[in-house]
Amino acid sequence: MQIFHPDDPGYDDERSGFQTGLRHEPQIIFAVENADDVREAVEYAESRGLGHAVQATGHGLTTPTSGVLISTKRMNGVEVDPATRTARAEAGAVWQDVIERAAPHGLAPLSGDASDVGVVGYTLGGGFGVLVREFGLAKDRVRRTEEVADVVTALEFELLEIDQVHAGSMIFEARYAEAVFDALHAWDLPAHVTPTLATLGDVVRVTFASTRPFDVGHLRVAPRLSEDVGPRPFAEAAGKPLPPHSYQGDNVLVSDLPLDALQEVRRLAGRSTVPIFIGVLPLGGALGASHVVKLISPRLGVEELHEEVFAVLRPWVIGRTPNFRYAVG
Ligand SMILES: Cc1cc2nc3c(=O)[nH]c(=O)nc-3n(C[C@H](O)[C@H](O)[C@H](O)COP(=O)(O)OP(=O)(O)OC[C@H]3O[C@@H](n4cnc5c(N)ncnc54)[C@H](O)[C@@H]3O)c2cc1C
Repeated sequence: MQIFHPDDPGYDDERSGFQTGLRHEPQIIFAVENADDVREAVEYAESRGLGHAVQATGHGLTTPTSGVLISTKRMNGVEVDPATRTARAEAGAVWQDVIERAAPHGLAPLSGDASDVGVVGYTLGGGFGVLVREFGLAKDRVRRTEEVADVVTALEFELLEIDQVHAGSMIFEARYAEAVFDALHAWDLPAHVTPTLATLGDVVRVTFASTRPFDVGHLRVAPRLSEDVGPRPFAEAAGKPLPPHSYQGDNVLVSDLPLDALQEVRRLAGRSTVPIFIGVLPLGGALGASHVVKLISPRLGVEELHEEVFAVLRPWVIGRTPNFRYAVG
């Protein structure tokens, strides 16, 4: 195991992750390779009264630590057992590692829209996959958790018999956003289809995924910059890695999302002096909330602007999910 202190070469690389706007400021980093290393790191922290934090990829960094950082990225073993349809992933494994090993067996995990997100962090936060409405949350498929203190050293979880999915996206110019939001809201959504709606600067994007075919005709309410929906291997629905960048974001879980409130969120976010991108994920009652509404900006220091927009949804807010909280304490 390598250990890094602030003046050591490699210290900055080791503490850096996907989030470039914020970094851990640890007095020591344990670049762990197995459960014994994790135990040593936790004992080091406890014996000195220091706090400790875990980082696999840095996608979900919220509060930086000044104590001990346990960097798990070298601990990335994944085993797939086709007989029991399970996978065991170590603390630093990312979804791509699982998808690649599961696919040859016609199996897939309940991963999300970015294949370079860490399996453990994603799953501990719930795990809203691209097929969440069809198969539920990733956390509900966990069979066994291996832990040292509060650090998960490996997870064993179910894989599903998924080979091909019907998936893809429609992209519209942002000036059609109101009509697209209306159409998505009016969709009598089949329980097996998981759509997402996102504003991304000059465009509005709707993505879809299901193991079964579905009709998206009623969403063609405006010209599309691109449209690509059809059967494809699961891995293609699992998202391409983005380059590291600076971002801050939060979310609310709502019991209902009336159209007026959704459109008001869109209007307020669109008028903001700092870009605020909206993400809407319809869940359905079985998951305990009707939607997750996310706000994300390409810089830090925007919590108050986000809260002003979230205020529109206050009558329906029932919580927040730890996933989709970025650079917020
Ligand atoms: C581009 C992008 C796309 C995303 N897409 C989705 C999506 O589709 N669905 C979804 O549900 N979420 C999604 N997320 C959110 C993501 O699941 C969370 O941010 C998650 O926390 C990331 O985990 P990580 O290990 O990659 O990140 P890290 O920043 O390394 O870890 C995040 C946190 O997870 C905890 N953690 C990580 N490893 C361990 C461990 N071994 N033991 C104990 N705690 C641990 C720690 O609290 C840590 O601070 C996305 C995030 C981004 C940035």
